[in-house]
Amino acid sequence: DELISQIAAGEVVERPASVVRELLDNALDAGATQITLRLSAGGVRLISLEDDGDGIVPEQMATALKRHATSKIASLAELEAVGTMGFRGEALAAINSIAELALLSRAAGQSNAWMLDGRTGELKPAARAGGTTVEVKELFFSVPARRKFLKTDATELAHCIEAVRRHALARPDVGFAIWHEGKLVEQWRRQSGEDARDRRVADVLGEDFLANSIAVDHRAGAVRVTGRAGLPDAARSRADQQFAYVNGRFVRDKVIVHAARSAYEDVLHGHRQPVYVLFVELDPARVDVNVHPTKIEVRFRDGREVHQAVRHAVDQALAAPRA
Ligand code: ADP
Ligand code: MG
Repeated sequence: DELISQIAAGEVVERPASVVRELLDNALDAGATQITLRLSAGGVRLISLEDDGDGIVPEQMATALKRHATSKIASLAELEAVGTMGFRGEALAAINSIAELALLSRAAGQSNAWMLDGRTGELKPAARAGGTTVEVKELFFSVPARRKFLKTDATELAHCIEAVRRHALARPDVGFAIWHEGKLVEQWRRQSGEDARDRRVADVLGEDFLANSIAVDHRAGAVRVTGRAGLPDAARSRADQQFAYVNGRFVRDKVIVHAARSAYEDVLHGHRQPVYVLFVELDPARVDVNVHPTKIEVRFRDGREVHQAVRHAVDQALAAPRA
C-alpha cells in the first residue's frame, strides 16, 4: 500500500506547489475564511497550511490519511455533481507517503485540539483554535529522484505563490497570507460586498490589471461567463495572465483558451497573448472534473456550447464602450 501511495503521489505531487494546491482545496472545502501558508526553502523543507475551517474530529484524523478516504462523496451519483474541490481522497495519503506529515486540528465541540503524526500514527492532545493545520516537512525525502528535479527555492516559491493566487482569485471572501522564511510575502484580505471580486483582482493581479480590463458578464443558455477581459493594449508576450475557472475550479482548458483567443483575433497582432480572468459556471452534470489526478483538466459534455458562451462573452466585453 505504501508503494501504491507513492505511485499515486507521483501523479498528484510534482513539486511543493502541488501540495499547496491540494491543501488549499481541503481548507476551502472545510469552509475556511482565513488561510495562512508558511513555507521554508520554497516549500521543500516546510509547507504549513493553517485554516479556520470545520476541523477534523480526532476519531477521523487517521482516516483522513488513508488512501481513498474522503468525507466528501458517498456514491458515484454524487461524483456527477461534485461541489467540493476534493473528492478522490488521495491527496493526504499521497503526501504522507513522500514527506513527514502532521495534522493538527480542532473541530467544533472539542475542548482541545489533537495532533496526529503521519508516520507513527501517534495521536496526542494539542493546543489550537478551531480549524486545521497541515504540516508537510522534507518533501520527497524518500524519493531522491524526485527531489533532484526540483528547481531553486525561488522558483518553487514562485510556483507556490501562483497556486495560492489561482485559488485567491476565485475566493475573494477568503483571506490569504503567505509567509516564506518567516517573512510575509503576500497578503490578500477578505473582501465582501458587490465589488469584492474586482477588489481581489486588483490585490492579486495589480490595479493595472483591473484598470486595463473590462467586466465580462454573459449568459448563454445554461452557461454563465463572468470576470474580466483585458484590453488589447494589456496583452503580453506570454500567456501568464490567463486565468480560467469552471464552477470555481482553476482549469487549463483548450476550449476556453481557444474561445477567448478567437474573440481577440481581430484586435491582437503577432504572438501577443490576451490577459483575462474568466469564470465559467454551468450545471456540474455537464462537466466531468474527474479526468485528471490533479483535476486541472475537465471535459465538457458539450464543448461547443461552452466555446460559444465564452467567445460571445469576451466579444461582448471587448465591444462595450469604455467607461
Ligand atoms: P479529498 O479532499 O479528496 O476528500 P484528501 O486526501 O485531500 O481527500 O483529504 C482527506 C479527508 O481529510 C477529507 O475528505 C476531509 O474529510 C479531511 N480533511 C483534509 N484536510 C482538511 C481540512 N483542512 N479541514 C477539515 N478536514 C480536512
Ligand atoms: Mg483534498
